Amino acid sequence: MGGVITALSLKVIEQGGLVAGVRYSTDYVKAEYYLAKTQEEVLTFASSKYVQSEKKNIYTEIKYELEQGKKVLFIGCPCDVYAVQRYLGKKYDAFLSCELVCMGVSSYKVASEYKTYAEKKNGSQLIRINARSKRKGWFVPHLEEEYKDGTIKCNTLFGTFLGYGMQVYNRPSCFECKFRGAQGVGDIRVGDFWGIKKTDAYWNSAGVSCIFVRTELGENAMNMFNESELFLYKTDYKTATLSNMSSYSNKSDKYVRLRKKFAEVFKKRGLVAACIATGTASFWAKHIVPDQFHVAIKRVYHFFKDKR
Ligand SMILES: Cc1cc2nc3c(=O)[nH]c(=O)nc-3n(C[C@H](O)[C@H](O)[C@H](O)COP(=O)(O)OP(=O)(O)OC[C@H]3O[C@@H](n4cnc5c(N)ncnc54)[C@H](O)[C@@H]3O)c2cc1C
Repeated sequence: MGGVITALSLKVIEQGGLVAGVRYSTDYVKAEYYLAKTQEEVLTFASSKYVQSEKKNIYTEIKYELEQGKKVLFIGCPCDVYAVQRYLGKKYDAFLSCELVCMGVSSYKVASEYKTYAEKKNGSQLIRINARSKRKGWFVPHLEEEYKDGTIKCNTLFGTFLGYGMQVYNRPSCFECKFRGAQGVGDIRVGDFWGIKKTDAYWNSAGVSCIFVRTELGENAMNMFNESELFLYKTDYKTATLSNMSSYSNKSDKYVRLRKKFAEVFKKRGLVAACIATGTASFWAKHIVPDQFHVAIKRVYHFFKDKR
């Protein structure tokens, strides 16, 4: 959310390296890996896509470039990072990996059905989405949709049928993810700083990331920046992971049951029916309460929930 991954990617390109990241397919339904060689290409990776990415030829391309002596930065969910490490089979000093704190990825079937629903509802073709729009601030994630007739819509992500669907209908393996917790797999792990307070010295209205540096390669990567390029603050692990359940635990059994019910209804009656049949209090609150109150509600919630 703080854009540190984009900053790191631009830096690697500036130094002659390559960056493997995920961009949307042209229909904004699927997401795919691509090996960027330019800063323009890196910018297409910005923002989270909550679907499982297509790997295409990325592993072979990375290995080829490393063998040619190129530096490569790989960004992905922890399972993506683990997979590429296994494929490479050995450590390369020129290979830097960055894992995301990850709540889990969804099937692109949710995005596909949502697109059909949204286009019918709005009477125009959906030409662009951004599931982490900062148009209304960053502290509450927003889904921004752009239609062919010029309409722009921006609503709290997890109060939309797309956001809720992607949150509940994760891949079954994501409910048993073995990469959560302090251990990690990448040289660096990056997440959003959900436990931040507006009174904290490191509050920034443009977004704040948490960076967990795990290896010497990761440390060296962060040292590429000077003080005017990144505002870095040290904090402890507990503070950095406050209110960020994906950092330390899998979703509860309640979500496993929700997913099961969601899947049954989704297959028979579609996305909207599945959201209505399983909607949690949190989804309905975000869906019904006007958007302008969501930041205040989230702040009150965090005030009582976060214990430093
Ligand atoms: C599926 C998913 C779930 C997430 N869940 C959480 C969470 O629960 N808590 C949390 O703190 N953070 C979560 N994140 C990470 C968070 O949303 C930000 O990506 C992260 O904090 C980096 O922020 P940034 O501003 O530096 O990212 P940016 O500079 O915007 O860069 C985002 C990077 O993410 C990569 N990316 C985007 N989508 C995918 C994808 N589907 N698969 C692999 N790589 C992808 C892009 O290649 C890009 O390099 C999640 C991200 C994803 C993709």
